[in-house]
Amino acid sequence: MAGIDASFKLGGILLSKERINQRVAELAADINNEYRGERLIIVGVLKGAVIFMADLVRMIESSIDVRMDFMAVSSYGNSSSSSGAVKIIKDMDTPAEGEHIILVEDIMDTGLTLSYLKDMLAARNPRSFRTCVLLEKPDRKTVECTIEYKGFEIPDKFVVGYGLDYAGKWRNLGDIWCLEEG
Ligand code: 5GP
Repeated sequence: MAGIDASFKLGGILLSKERINQRVAELAADINNEYRGERLIIVGVLKGAVIFMADLVRMIESSIDVRMDFMAVSSYGNSSSSSGAVKIIKDMDTPAEGEHIILVEDIMDTGLTLSYLKDMLAARNPRSFRTCVLLEKPDRKTVECTIEYKGFEIPDKFVVGYGLDYAGKWRNLGDIWCLEEG
């Protein structure tokens, strides 16, 4: 059957769905403690953060007035000469001014995307701004960018599953897998 790229295949499971679920619950508990009684806009970066965000928001308690919004971005140029500028394909639908905002990302690699979005949204005068990122690759970091709610630190390996893709595939996997050549 055609359709599967022959150059990469699934290697092993790096993070099981059970570990992910437990960690997402811990992150949601922190958010519940810190935003109780407040209104909160959770902004997911499409498409990778969708599954993580869907699980996270369902663990946020009803005393928090949660709104969901989304952004879509793409990098300018090729990855080897990244300027750190990202092109906004889709912006938030709701104004950020005066709101508590949490930006939700799937993974921080170099940090360029997250720091660009952080600067852009922080300039809109939100009441507060924090980031929630499921995975961080500390070895790849080129810019400092604080993550207030971090899921896991992972080694410098390309991962898929739980929203993360390779060429559009494998977002639907419940576990997070490493890719291997072959
Ligand atoms: P950064 O700007 O931090 O270098 O790049 C962040 C983006 O690179 C992520 O949002 C994601 O799209 C992509 N990325 C980086 N590492 C991985 C990885 O291991 N797996 C997948 N699927 N995407 C990655």
